[in-house]
Amino acid sequence: MNKKGYFGEFGGSFVPETLVACLKELDAEYSKARRSTAFRKELSYYLSDFAGRPTPLYFASNISRILKLKVYLKREDLLHTGAHKINNTLGQVILAKRMGKKRIIAETGAGQHGVATATVAALFGLTCDIYMGQEDIVRQRLNVFRMQLLGANVIPVKNGSQTLKDAMTEALRDWVTNVRDTYYIIGSVAGPHPYPVMVRDFQAVIGEETKKEIVKITKRLPDYLVACVGGGSNAMGLFHPFFKYKKVKFIGVEAAGLGIGSKYHSATLVAGKLGVLHGSKSTVLQDKYGQIKIAHSVAAGLDYPGVGPEHSFYKKIKRAQYVAVTDNEALEGFKFLSEKEGIIPALETAHAIAYLKKLSKKAKKNSLVVLCLSGRGDKDMDIVYKRI
Ligand SMILES: *Cc1c(COP(=O)(O)O)cnc(C)c1O
Repeated sequence: MNKKGYFGEFGGSFVPETLVACLKELDAEYSKARRSTAFRKELSYYLSDFAGRPTPLYFASNISRILKLKVYLKREDLLHTGAHKINNTLGQVILAKRMGKKRIIAETGAGQHGVATATVAALFGLTCDIYMGQEDIVRQRLNVFRMQLLGANVIPVKNGSQTLKDAMTEALRDWVTNVRDTYYIIGSVAGPHPYPVMVRDFQAVIGEETKKEIVKITKRLPDYLVACVGGGSNAMGLFHPFFKYKKVKFIGVEAAGLGIGSKYHSATLVAGKLGVLHGSKSTVLQDKYGQIKIAHSVAAGLDYPGVGPEHSFYKKIKRAQYVAVTDNEALEGFKFLSEKEGIIPALETAHAIAYLKKLSKKAKKNSLVVLCLSGRGDKDMDIVYKRI
């Protein structure tokens, strides 16, 4: 990173003036917190005793045999609340508490980040408002009920596509007017500085554990790291600790929806252009007039028309490769892992699984692959039931 808050030309902080001061405050407080032993100790206590870390790195022997690869699954699906999101919400809520904030707000798409946020707000006794697109409220009604059970207030957003992008816009709007007592927990490596750095640091526990575990089990580093990319937090969390090991190849799998050629996909890095969304310069799905396109994916957690700026940087410097798989391929991947390994993945994760079949055709036989199993599939039963 050169200029503060930038990854090459990507990142920065493109926000209304009222937010400049609080982002600076957040940046300063986070810089202090990350160096504080007390902060790190408290976070590591909750990550282990509340959330269930470390997660296993599991050798998926059945699909390994079929694919002629050695596939290890980083089991973030086994965490409390069922996905990697809790790593980040725990980090940010402990920071919010240090900053003396009394109210938490967040945006959510699939509802996973909303649930992870409502969970930590309940844990620390903070008021919690979650913005969620009306469309997602319908698609993910179980998660809405979960958030409400956890004591959070779910605010429906009826603007635009009524999905994640609009929920995030509303949450930023709320923050502008209530910054004094309110902490905004962003759910991915997107948004203005310092969020992309902060969320990446909190999710880097995935890659740090993986590095220790894979070396312990196989006495070597992996050939490939594979993860699905929505905003990009589980992928960046896995990739980042391996950045300097140039032989470890990174593959980020986006959602091609009904196909890249159609209007209905969320493959931001594969098909987007340079732009600014939610306070950050990165790659954005936009039309020829620069209007943000509506993203689509069968996985609600992937249908975001932006992506974290560090991924745009990794793509630009060719440190990572980004690919996309369709809704149908993801559903196949979903069935494949369920039937062959006895593990039902989230539909988001199923995109990464689906890509393994393509990887097996081009990678050397028995290549060592670590796949981030970002979440479990219980939340998607309704959708999958209707589709297969
Ligand atoms: C939210 C979510 C994602 C996508 O978010 P990233 O920030 O790209 O990681 C992927 N998998 C699961 C299970 C999720 O809940």
